[in-house]
Amino acid sequence: MKRILVIYTGGTIGMVSTPSGYAPEKEAFHDLLDRIPELHADGMPTWDIVDMEPLLDSSNITVLEWNAIGRLIADHYAAYDGFVVLHGTDTMAYTASALSFMLRGNAKSVILTGSQIPLCELRNDARDNIITSLLIAASDRVHEVCLYFGGKLLRGNRAIKYSADDLIAFESPNYPALADVGISIRYNAPALLPPSRGQLVLQPFKNVPIGVIKVFPGIQFDLFDSIMTERLKGIVIETFGAGNIPGHANSLPPIIRKASDNGTVIVVCSQCPHGTVSLGAYETSSALKDAGAVSGYDITTEAAVAKLYYLFSRGLSRDEIRVRMERSMRGEITI
Ligand code: ASP
Repeated sequence: MKRILVIYTGGTIGMVSTPSGYAPEKEAFHDLLDRIPELHADGMPTWDIVDMEPLLDSSNITVLEWNAIGRLIADHYAAYDGFVVLHGTDTMAYTASALSFMLRGNAKSVILTGSQIPLCELRNDARDNIITSLLIAASDRVHEVCLYFGGKLLRGNRAIKYSADDLIAFESPNYPALADVGISIRYNAPALLPPSRGQLVLQPFKNVPIGVIKVFPGIQFDLFDSIMTERLKGIVIETFGAGNIPGHANSLPPIIRKASDNGTVIVVCSQCPHGTVSLGAYETSSALKDAGAVSGYDITTEAAVAKLYYLFSRGLSRDEIRVRMERSMRGEITI
């Protein structure tokens, strides 16, 4: 019999109606789980649950909570066959990305899930998301950090929250689903990572100062000049299309060059969810490359942010970080 550890962090999935709106409540959520017979039926793995303290709306999740989740998984790694992390949907793709980097050498399934409608409601997506995540975690097919939601198993560091109100709330625009869940669970074997043969090493994250800038027509780049100091370790720039930026007089390259001279790692991502950055393909992106930026290729902003935290937390040099940002470490980019 497989054993799964469920880590409950908060989020809509376990919220109940309170006088001040939906809020997470540990006892009420445990009671609701106890009332789902399928969770204890034949064919289900045995599972235990641990609650994070305090339970959070995922908008309030920080590096500290990422570290606490990673620590729980590392501490219970030998005792369980897989892990299900119940999490709010708003920042689930960030946490999934962070765990994929933080758990170096992980060979077990770590499935993040949540719901758009709380389990306490008559009509909800929580019940299926929990049951299916437990079955996937116990399947022996998955050896990486994933996100399960609305019938799709996605690589965690490829997922983005796509809808604020659909029950199919996540997408993986640049990588196929790892499994489609219909009448049966159909795994996409070629898309899954092979089990890692190394030992699990937990790399806690430091609260590294990093930033994200989204470019838009008419952007006044000089406004950002003041944040380009030596304090800023990394910056993700969400550019147009394949890595393009406006080239008007008040332009970005001098600011990027200043950041680069200060030692900041500058990563170029695209505002298009689908497709890849191709620095130098257009004149409007060559300037970024010349100013010292590196390409994030088809990485999501969520994964780029998590990867910067990870690489800086490992204490690597700026040059090593620049090289690794352009390489796939956990299947997060396609080169
Ligand atoms: N605000 C909630 C959260 O991210 C939304 C959800 O769980 O769906 O915790």
